[in-house]
Amino acid sequence: MDLTAFRAELGDIPAQDHPRLVQQKSRDHYWYSPILKAQLDHVTADLVVAPRSQEDVKTILRAAFKHKVPVTPRGAGTGNYGQAMPLSGGVILDLINMNKVIRIEKDRVRAEAGIILEKLDDETKAAVNGEMRFHPSTYRMATLGGFIAGGSGGVGSIRWGGLRNFGNILALKVITCEAEPRELEFIGTDILKVAHAYGTNGIIVEAEMPLTAAYDWVDFMAGFDSIIEACAFAEAVAQQDGLLLKEIAPVAAPVPYDFFNRHRPYIRHRDQSVVCMMVAPFAVEALQILLELWKGEALYRGDKADEETRRKLPPQYELAWNHTTLRALKIDPTITYLQTQYPDLEHVKKIIGMLGDEMPMHIEMNKFDGRIVFSGLPLVRYTTEARLNEIIKIHEDNGCLVFNPHRYTLEEGGMKRTDQAQLDFKKEADPTGLLNPGKMIGWENPDFDLNSGRVWLFEGLQAAKVA
Ligand code: FAD
Repeated sequence: MDLTAFRAELGDIPAQDHPRLVQQKSRDHYWYSPILKAQLDHVTADLVVAPRSQEDVKTILRAAFKHKVPVTPRGAGTGNYGQAMPLSGGVILDLINMNKVIRIEKDRVRAEAGIILEKLDDETKAAVNGEMRFHPSTYRMATLGGFIAGGSGGVGSIRWGGLRNFGNILALKVITCEAEPRELEFIGTDILKVAHAYGTNGIIVEAEMPLTAAYDWVDFMAGFDSIIEACAFAEAVAQQDGLLLKEIAPVAAPVPYDFFNRHRPYIRHRDQSVVCMMVAPFAVEALQILLELWKGEALYRGDKADEETRRKLPPQYELAWNHTTLRALKIDPTITYLQTQYPDLEHVKKIIGMLGDEMPMHIEMNKFDGRIVFSGLPLVRYTTEARLNEIIKIHEDNGCLVFNPHRYTLEEGGMKRTDQAQLDFKKEADPTGLLNPGKMIGWENPDFDLNSGRVWLFEGLQAAKVA
């Protein structure tokens, strides 16, 4: 890598090499995991560059190719698997300045990749009363490109599924890392070549997303005597085709009382489990009736609260998804989490019976390939890596899926196989392997046996371990 020669070709593209700032921009939320924290703490790039246009991106990638400089794209750095961390140093490509809305139509929007998701919704609501179908709970910080390259689904996925489902991304414009970078427009199945590829095989510069009708969603928190009752109610709500909800998340006691600080006055006691929900205004009263039938209790309703109270409380979606873990971590730093999937309520019950308060349950009701499933983001009272692995094994031995959030590679954090279409596209779009090195095992070490039970460690990290 010849960084000086690289820099000389940047012209007036904003670049920063102050070590503190570069380190800050080299980090994401990897520290969610005690294992990733130990592995990645020292990782830093050499330079941050912040393109303002697609021409700037091409100039940067042309120079990177010529001078063999690794490039790791970055949105807002809210990914929590170390996806945005530059394992080989080099350059952080900070897309935050590429944040323009290009076009809004009745049912879709096209925007640059660096736009913040909440800002994007503000613009589409104002223009056509439409909003994104779903968003991560980091809505107020995360970027469109970062969500597509590093996320999966979130608030709204109970209705619309995830990013991997056809129709949830309409088009992507991608720039390759070659001697002469190309601009490619992807639609249909080609989108899957770069979606959720951690930026390892192209830089997403524009995305076109479908819109749905915007609502003034009402926050609604319900209380139950046990997490099993909360989960049973949550499933019943998810199955009510006449109700419209954007979020349904049962969370086991004592998590709400211990960690949802600003909602604590609404929670009766430490043993109360809750269901965090967002509901369309027309469906609030029907939801209330259903809740009474299920012997639950309305603890907080946004439509009954005054303006001042509503402003002071975080929205329900910031108690859900990975925000549940974030709130717990802020108070008890020994806590970590898992990402699981339970085929049905019986499996949820069984795992709760086996792990109890060592793994306080947190479920996101989710639509997965058309079926309503219990997606788990349970908290884990972490002791050792060996015990965490036992907890994962208990899940797997009992027919429950685990997507390991303590791994920084695409394969180990996902389905434990390389996505062939993503790998094939990387050979074409990043032939010298400069984009986000170390995140795709299929590229770095094609002979590695993903079923060996061994953890793969990127060469650069091995070197750091030895040093
Ligand atoms: P970054 O973290 O900056 O990047 C993510 C990945 O994409 C990295 O590999 C990066 O290199 C790559 N990348 C970034 N921009 C581009 C680009 N333009 N082209 C190519 N590659 C690019 N995720 C969910 O899916 N759902 C959730 O509900 C959710 N909740 C969360 C809650 C908390 C509290 C936290 C900390 C994380 C959560 N996440 C969730 C993970 C993360 O916030 C989201 O996936 C988010 O959308 C990432 O956006 P970002 O802009 O921060 O991306």
